[in-house]
Amino acid sequence: MNGDTLDDGFVLWFPAPKSFTGEDVAELHLHGSRAALAAVIQALSRLGLRLAEPGEFTRRAFLNDKLDLLQAEAVADLVAAETDAQRRQALRQLDGELGGFYRGWSDRLTRLLAHLEAAIDFPDEELPPEIETRILDETMELVGEIEHHLTDGHRGEKLRAGIMVAIIGPPNAGKSSLLNRIARREAAITSPIAGTTRDVIEVAIDLQGYPVVVADTAGLRNSSDAIEQEGFRRAMRRAEEADIRLFVFDAAHPAEARGASAWPEPETLLVANKIDLIASPERDLPSIAFPISALTGEGVDALLSALGGRVGQSYCSEAPVLTRARHRQALEEAASSLRRSLSATLPELRAEDLRLALRSLGRITGAVDVEDLLDIIFRDFCIGK
Ligand code: GDP
Repeated sequence: MNGDTLDDGFVLWFPAPKSFTGEDVAELHLHGSRAALAAVIQALSRLGLRLAEPGEFTRRAFLNDKLDLLQAEAVADLVAAETDAQRRQALRQLDGELGGFYRGWSDRLTRLLAHLEAAIDFPDEELPPEIETRILDETMELVGEIEHHLTDGHRGEKLRAGIMVAIIGPPNAGKSSLLNRIARREAAITSPIAGTTRDVIEVAIDLQGYPVVVADTAGLRNSSDAIEQEGFRRAMRRAEEADIRLFVFDAAHPAEARGASAWPEPETLLVANKIDLIASPERDLPSIAFPISALTGEGVDALLSALGGRVGQSYCSEAPVLTRARHRQALEEAASSLRRSLSATLPELRAEDLRLALRSLGRITGAVDVEDLLDIIFRDFCIGK
C-alpha cells in the first residue's frame, strides 16, 4: 500500500443486477504470473476482500434468482463436460429448458390444487360440478407424463457419468488386445496365457462426442482358481450392468459365437477377432459379426463407428432428459404423491397429496412457493369479488 505498481492490467465492471451473480462485480485482468497474483491478492485482502469459495458465484446467482437450481447444476456440468454430447446436454439445461419443462408440471399442479382448494373452502359457491372428475383426469395425466419421463433408461444421467461398454467373450479371444486398440494405448495387459485379466480394466474414451467407458472383463470362464473365480464374478456383474456389450470371439472358432446368445441382442455386438489368421472371413462367420483384427487394426474403425451409432441412437433426445439422481428422486416422490391422491377418500387428503407432489417438484428447481395458490384461486374463480 505504498503506491507501488503491482501489475499492469485492466478492470471490467459489471453493475448489479445484470451481472452473473446479480451483484456488483469487478473483474481484474492481470498478467498470470504467480508473483503478480500474490501481490494483488494480498493488496485486496488488506481491503477486507477474500477468495471466493468453490461454487460461490453460482450459489450467489441462485440466491439472487439469476439461476434456478437446475441451471446452477448445469454450470457445474458444463465445467466438468469432457465430450461434446455432455457439453450440449449441460448447455440445454443451462438455457433453462429442463427447468421450464418441470415448471410446466408445477404450474399445472398448482392450478389443480387451486381448484381443489376452492372446492374445499367455498363449497357453497357455484363451482363447475364436473370439477372432481376433471381433477382426477388431470392428475392421472400428470402422473402418466412424469412416469413416462422417469422411464427414460437413465439416458441423461448416463450421459453425465459415461456410457458403459463391456468387452466380453471367451478367454484368449483378444478382448484385452481390442481394448488396447480402442484406447490407442497399452491400458490392459495382454497375454497369450488364458485367464490373465483377473480384474476389470476400464478406459474412458470420447466416442463421436459421447463419453464411453470401455471395460475389459476377465474371460467369461469358470475355473477352480479362487482369484480367477472372483474375476469371473466381476466380469459377469460388469457385463450385466453394461449399456452395450461387445462379445469377442476367435474367428477361427465360430462356434464360440454361440456364447453371445446368453446376452440381450440389441445391446450386444458380435465381434469376430483375429481375421488376420483366417483365409476367408466372409464365408465362415455369422453375417452379423464385425470381422476385426485387434492385432493389425483391420475392421476396428468400422466396429467403433457402429458402436458410436448405437450409442448416439440411444442417447440423443429431442425432449429434455433427466440428468441427476436428485431430480429422479424428487420426481418419483411427486408421482407417488399424485398416485396416492387418486385414491384419497376426502378432498382435504387429496389436496394434501397434491401439495406434497408440488413441493417435490419445487425442490428440483429450488422454488417451493405455495403462496402463488391464492392468486390463482381469486383470478380463476373471482370468488368474493
Ligand atoms: P483376452 O484373454 O480375450 O483378453 O485375449 P488377449 O487380448 O490377451 O489375446 C490373447 C492372445 O491372442 C494374445 O497372444 C494376443 O496377442 C493374440 N491376439 C489378440 N488379437 C489378435 C488378432 O487380431 N490377431 C492375432 N493373430 N492374434 C491376436
